[in-house]
Amino acid sequence: MAGNEKKSGFDTLAVRGGLLRSDFQEHSEALFLTSSFVYKNAAEAARKFANEEQGYIYSRFTNPTVTMFQDRLAALEGAEACVVTATGMAAIASTVMGSLKSGDHMISSRSVFGTVVPLFDQICKKFGIDTTWVSAANVDEWRAAVRPNTRLLFCETPSNPLAEICDIAAIAEVAKKANAIFAVDNCLLTPALQRPMELGADLVIHSATKYLDGQGRVLAGAVCGSKKLIEPIYGFVRTAGPAISPFNAWICLKGMETLRIRMDAQSASSLSLAHWLTDRPEVAKVHYAGLPSHPQRALAARQASAQGAVVSFEVKGGRDAAWRVVDAVKMISITANLGDTKTTITHPATTTHARVSQAERDAAGISDGLLRVAVGLENVEDICEDLQRGFGGL
Ligand SMILES: *Cc1c(COP(=O)(O)O)cnc(C)c1O
Repeated sequence: MAGNEKKSGFDTLAVRGGLLRSDFQEHSEALFLTSSFVYKNAAEAARKFANEEQGYIYSRFTNPTVTMFQDRLAALEGAEACVVTATGMAAIASTVMGSLKSGDHMISSRSVFGTVVPLFDQICKKFGIDTTWVSAANVDEWRAAVRPNTRLLFCETPSNPLAEICDIAAIAEVAKKANAIFAVDNCLLTPALQRPMELGADLVIHSATKYLDGQGRVLAGAVCGSKKLIEPIYGFVRTAGPAISPFNAWICLKGMETLRIRMDAQSASSLSLAHWLTDRPEVAKVHYAGLPSHPQRALAARQASAQGAVVSFEVKGGRDAAWRVVDAVKMISITANLGDTKTTITHPATTTHARVSQAERDAAGISDGLLRVAVGLENVEDICEDLQRGFGGL
């Protein structure tokens, strides 16, 4: 990292953090689209392979563009180190595979990104790592789930789509007592709004596919933490190979320059939308941690400066009414992705949660009338107007 970055503010770090310049002295961050690097002679190659001399060898290990992405994100999260990966799932899988061993135990909040469930319950289990699932909001459940072999606690906050909040500081205490690592998936709020390490988390995980890119172009993932905790995760990535493409790293690196401005604008629009939805007679319930009616409003406000851009709501009339809203939109994109400048809408019960049984959906609160909107950067009036079509108003 260059200069006195530690002392700079968030916005400065977002545009200058991690900046490396080549001998060409390019102003903007360069994209090093190269798989390997050359040496002046055999001796230099030997020194670099022996780790006696710092330098670039091969882009599965690392690459200058990837280094810039890692260092910029580490600076924004307030972390000592960061390793980036091909996808968000690769970041989560590499965290487990790099940090744990057969016979270890994990505790995870139940309301996590859907693919995490088969990763933990099927794949990690196959390698002898068991997971106990607990309620996001109930710290006593986390405490009660600790076993002598518990080595990792994992949560996502706020949860998607129902905006349940995990108390990061309280769960960090549980992890500390258990001598376990506490990893927070900070994908939904990003360091622009919430910095889990300042609240006691050991690792911060990202699907950079979402807001770090922010424009729906690439898949990428990241894990931030202390050098000591990142090293074995990096070791797994370097050896097993879920490495990021330098091109995708460059997209995310440049995406982060506008992260805070986007997150603030998208959060403000989301709060307006959540209020507007609350007033609609067709809507039974709105889930957004920025609303005064949210049951964990105070905790949410303590942990994050704003509540992000995912708003979900239940329409009266179940699946038929929900599908009518989806089918009536003209501008909003019907897609299950989120974290884009373009607003998206999805019906979780038949898309993101379709593989989950009706009983499990009921237990998780994913009702047939539930819709999730990931608010983008359009004028919020246009987003409301588009949704109003489905309520029969236009
Ligand atoms: C999308 C997502 C992931 C998985 O990321 P990919 O880049 O799709 O692999 C993990 N966690 C959260 C919260 C997500 O939204």
